[in-house]
Amino acid sequence: MIENQNKELLTIISPAYNEAENLDELYSRILNATENLNLEIEIIYVNDGSNDNTIEVINRQSENDGRITVIDLSRNFGKEIALTAGLDHASGDAVIVIDSDLQDPPEVIPQLVEKWRDGNDVVNAKRIKRKGEGLLKKITSYTYYRLLFHLSDIKIPMDTGDFRLLNRNALNAVLKLREKHRYMKGLFAWVGFKQQEIQYEREARYKGKTKWSFFGLFNLAFDGLTSFSILPLRLASTVGFLSALFGFFYGATIVIKKVFFHEPVVGFTSLVVLITFFGGIQLLSIGIIGEYIGRIFNETKNRPLYIVKNIKESVFSNKS
Ligand code: UDP
Ligand code: MG
Repeated sequence: MIENQNKELLTIISPAYNEAENLDELYSRILNATENLNLEIEIIYVNDGSNDNTIEVINRQSENDGRITVIDLSRNFGKEIALTAGLDHASGDAVIVIDSDLQDPPEVIPQLVEKWRDGNDVVNAKRIKRKGEGLLKKITSYTYYRLLFHLSDIKIPMDTGDFRLLNRNALNAVLKLREKHRYMKGLFAWVGFKQQEIQYEREARYKGKTKWSFFGLFNLAFDGLTSFSILPLRLASTVGFLSALFGFFYGATIVIKKVFFHEPVVGFTSLVVLITFFGGIQLLSIGIIGEYIGRIFNETKNRPLYIVKNIKESVFSNKS
């Protein structure tokens, strides 16, 4: 039951893929953290095709608490899409996106809300420390965020995951972006609005281990780059142009040497080196073009982003 119609509604969205052991802790920490905010709380769990008993845990919670929406996807669609499913079904005046492994501590929620009440449309949570993650992951993600920041056409905040708050206006804008290769951090930045950030220490996972494989992260990183920059394409054409220039002059010197000075053509080694070198550059450039074409291909298929197997909506769901 909605006790007080005047309270604003905050929707907290958490995608979950095999997070059964974390969800009860998440639930109680969210409720504790939001107790004194004078807000109605709606929680949306998106079960992203888990094969542990995540869905049982979520269903049990929702039987006891009508403020919970359960979206059960038909298979694993990946975090970016699971998140989108949650955003699509949010009823709140603002939404907060949070990982279900408690790496984003729910205790930070009041700070996000405070900045929202100060009149910001989007409040990003920037991590100043990250615990429980390997050195390699820290270094690669540090480098990637900086690379992306400089290469992309819009400024995607550095060291900021998906953990953030969006008000209704910003959310509605994000919902209009239906591209298939979704790099959510980029889309959240793309819509603009008045953005603010707070800082927090990212914790280690509560239980279980990361769901991202090396390849998964690599793909996401690539989606981020190709969705927000065509610089790789430009790079390919620049390298192509420079090597064509080099080839022309080098070729000219050889012809001149042969025709006017009758120098015998030597240099089997340099020939092999050149062929393999330029062969490599060509394949690389074709590969880059291919990446973009593959993404065009996926967009043209016009499939829905996800399929919902089952949904149980919260008491707020027809509020707006
Ligand atoms: N997640 C998801 N679908 C996936 C992979 C991950 O919904 O295919 C969720 C996962 O349950 C967690 C969040 O996305 O709530 C972040 O995943 P994870 O902790 O594995 O990533 P990391 O924190 O290591 O980047
Ligand atoms: Mg995590």
